Amino acid sequence: MATVEMRGVTKVFPGGVKAVNNVSLTIRDREFMVLVGPSGCGKTTTLRMVAGLEDISEGVLSIDGRVVNNVAPKDRDIAMVFQNYALYPHMNVYKNMAFSLQLRRRELGLTRQQIDQRVREAAAILGLTDFLQRKPKALSGGQRQRVAVGRAIVRNPKAFLFDEPLSNLDAKLRVETRAEIKKLHLRLNTTTLYVTHDQEEAMTLGDRIVVMKDGVIQQCASPLEVYERPANRFVAGFVGTPPMNFFTGTMVDRQYFSFGQQRLRLTERLLRRVPAQPGAPLVLGVRPEAMSLQPEGRFAGPHNALHGAAEVIEPLGDRVDIYFSTEQHPHLICRTEAGYAREVRPATPITVYLALEQCHLFATDPAGENLSL
Ligand code: ATP
Repeated sequence: MATVEMRGVTKVFPGGVKAVNNVSLTIRDREFMVLVGPSGCGKTTTLRMVAGLEDISEGVLSIDGRVVNNVAPKDRDIAMVFQNYALYPHMNVYKNMAFSLQLRRRELGLTRQQIDQRVREAAAILGLTDFLQRKPKALSGGQRQRVAVGRAIVRNPKAFLFDEPLSNLDAKLRVETRAEIKKLHLRLNTTTLYVTHDQEEAMTLGDRIVVMKDGVIQQCASPLEVYERPANRFVAGFVGTPPMNFFTGTMVDRQYFSFGQQRLRLTERLLRRVPAQPGAPLVLGVRPEAMSLQPEGRFAGPHNALHGAAEVIEPLGDRVDIYFSTEQHPHLICRTEAGYAREVRPATPITVYLALEQCHLFATDPAGENLSL
């Protein structure tokens, strides 16, 4: 068990690409931390620096209180599971899992019996006991992934590092294996840093998640906190499916936000930190689930109606996603109760009610700070 700590960690590749920029982050003992962000944001580079596979250009990395900037990967006592699980094809499952321990048996001070015990225990945890004699080619993708995890478990490391471990699996298997990884963490409680570009995976797995963009941490918080209180417009748009809708407009007086012909009366909470002067440009962020065709309950209120035209209707069972547009905003999504959407047809006018108490106001500059927190 261990705490992994990064202080001002930066990576500049030869040629000048700054892949990771001044990252400070503490992964607490036993915590499951997920690094998430779009392709190229620096997730893998961060993970590889923790693993020791990439030099750190600036900053300090410590594991369990020991600075490891110049410690070789094999001496960091952490285990990494890769996206392409790279099993040895000529070895059976048992051998694949035992190999790294056998190779360093004397150095690690392990007996053959201890290695055997660790492999069998890991196999039992991962449901691989019946497959120990099989070669990787005779396993399914999910089983291979479990062997890769098994190889990490037998090392009994201080921390696990996962680099997109599920991306080679089909959708159903991905969800199943995701649940297995979560169960595994509940059982072993090993400090974990997990990289993915999939925000849903991040939300379901992480005790906390770190959202990155262009090598910089945008927010680090619990999944719910990130969803309900996104620090900026990028995080708000990245986390949540379907994504948050954004309306660019201006304040017309101290309460009303307007775009085109439409006006919405914002709540006190939203306006707490908003520039007071009329004409101030702002971006209103509304999650699809904070919109409804039903003007009641949390969707009741004065001046919270939006007029648009329905385009595509996607039934989801008890809910319906309605893709719609207004004069100024062509790509909007409302997730509403199915009962209220029965009459909606493509290319017909609709009125959508906003739960304004759950909306956000963002600055229009590139940082796009959430002004309603
Ligand atoms: P993905 O999800 O696509 O793997 P990522 O968030 O993991 O993306 P990184 O692989 O960490 O991103 O890359 C971050 C940036 O660093 C990218 O702009 C990438 O092109 C650049 N980069 C990565 N490795 C190298 C390298 N060896 N030399 C130069 N630039 C690199």
